[in-house]
Amino acid sequence: MTSAPSPPPEAFESRGAGSGDGEGDTIHEACGVFGVYAPGQPVSHLTFDGLFALQHRGQESAGMAVSDGERIFVEKSMGLVSNAFDDYKLAALQGHLAIGHTRYSTTGSSTWHNAQPVYREPGESGFALGHNGNLTNTPTLADEAGMLPGTVTSDSDLVGELIAREFPSDEAMSSDGRDLERALLKVLPRLEGAFSFVLMDAAHVIGVRDPHGFRPLCLGKLDAGWVLASETPALDVIGAHFVRELDPGEMIVVDANGYRSVRPFPPERVNPTLCIFEFVYMSRPDSVLYNQEVHSARQRMGELLARQAPVPADMVMGVPESGVPAAEGYARHSGIPYGQGLVKNRYIGRTFILPDQRMRDRGVRRKLNPLRANINGKRLVVVDDSIVRGTTTRQMVRMLREAGASEVHLRISSPPLKWPCFYGMDFGTRAELLAANMSLEEITKYLNADSVAYLSLDNLVTAIGAPGAGFCTACLSGEYPTEVDDALSKHVLEVQPVRG
Ligand code: SF4
Repeated sequence: MTSAPSPPPEAFESRGAGSGDGEGDTIHEACGVFGVYAPGQPVSHLTFDGLFALQHRGQESAGMAVSDGERIFVEKSMGLVSNAFDDYKLAALQGHLAIGHTRYSTTGSSTWHNAQPVYREPGESGFALGHNGNLTNTPTLADEAGMLPGTVTSDSDLVGELIAREFPSDEAMSSDGRDLERALLKVLPRLEGAFSFVLMDAAHVIGVRDPHGFRPLCLGKLDAGWVLASETPALDVIGAHFVRELDPGEMIVVDANGYRSVRPFPPERVNPTLCIFEFVYMSRPDSVLYNQEVHSARQRMGELLARQAPVPADMVMGVPESGVPAAEGYARHSGIPYGQGLVKNRYIGRTFILPDQRMRDRGVRRKLNPLRANINGKRLVVVDDSIVRGTTTRQMVRMLREAGASEVHLRISSPPLKWPCFYGMDFGTRAELLAANMSLEEITKYLNADSVAYLSLDNLVTAIGAPGAGFCTACLSGEYPTEVDDALSKHVLEVQPVRG
């Protein structure tokens, strides 16, 4: 018997695209995934802690599936991990294996039904799935499977459906209990795009990384069990030791016998292209990717930015949080003192579409407030990780000037964002990206900055410091590592002039 997911506590409205309050002007995260197989351990609490460490990857919904070896219990809810679970719910989720998910919706709407894990009920226990990334052939897959529009509500839902269809009938179920693994091996080669999956049935936890390895996924070891997680801090927080990252194109199956590594994709499809924005913005600073600590890589980005685009100034400051390590690096290399110029409200959760321009202009103030005494009369170097539409940056520059800054020199620790992402980061369309529509001179004028400089792609790769490692740089270079279905790419690649 399998428990059904609990009903939605309340209706939840869809996120408005580009609300203009600053929400539409940030890179929206993809998702975080977590899996644990640990007999004798409180796996629901371990999953909660793991998801809590991955909260930055998605704040729209959170969920977990737990099995005691016979049944799978699924619990999911809109909102933050801490909203989705409490002691009572965690205590009810008893078992020795679990997966968990935090979601930001890059495909499908922001509703409880699209919260993950996805659950399907073939076989004796069914299976659950959590997905980080975006498929790029969803329309083709749905078409090939004969699904009518609306049959599935997201690419993750589609994968769940495809796997369920590959399960044998009840009479033909295998005696070794590996039907989920076999179904996966039939479905995985048909998928294109970005996918780091965690899956489970009542006896196995499985992790899969797509052949490009767009999104991270790592393996950790507990004293009596194994852990899979999007990022290494989720291992640290539960006391697991980092074993290694899954290779692009690798599947790990964990069960009572330990773990096995399986290679579901032909070698010619394996081409590592980790998302370079995991280093720039997405991953936690204490994460380790390609054997490099992200925080150190961000500091090196700042150092190279100082070498590439020096400017006389009185103070270097970072835009909290992800601009801060690069600002430290810029200050270190340039010799200009580092200082704090902005305070971030740490408790910004969900924001709402703001109804008029006056309120929208104030939007950035809800998140950032200037430290006037530190700024007044100073020539500032302001370091940020990226500029998406530019509306937030423009408001921030105005705020710094109003607080008394005599000059504002923007230094960006990544190259100009000119192309949309199809692999799980939500920048909006090309028409919405500032750097796709304006020259550097126009950008400087639009933002009302004294100067603007971006880190070059060569310097970004050098700063990361993983010689020979492959990266996706599509949003910076326009070179996409995979084919993208026309139906997905048609509108988002168009450019329109934007003027502020
Ligand atoms: S397009 Fe950009 S954000 Fe998307 S996966 Fe590639 S590098 Fe990352």
